[in-house]
Amino acid sequence: MWSRIPRQQADDSSSTSGEEPRPDVVKPSPVFQPASAPEGFDSWQHKKLRTLHSMSVDNTRVFACGRMAGVLHEKLQRAPQFDTPLCSNCFNKSHA
Ligand SMILES: [Zn+2]
Repeated sequence: MWSRIPRQQADDSSSTSGEEPRPDVVKPSPVFQPASAPEGFDSWQHKKLRTLHSMSVDNTRVFACGRMAGVLHEKLQRAPQFDTPLCSNCFNKSHA
């Protein structure tokens, strides 16, 4: 007698599960802290991105991070605002 045929459970739940799409955009993580350029450096801010760079006072074209100053960069005469994103390359360096 073949009365005890094991019933195979149909597994329909193996359809593609919704995986979380990974965002392709890598968000830069600027450091938010009140900061000013160290001694001997000027603070430069991008007018649109508001990113703060530092540049040696002897320099007028290239920031400490190696970026060129553009028309959108302006030299700050005063301390930047608290929520100013800092260029990590300019401000990670220890100018001690
Ligand atoms: Zn920079």
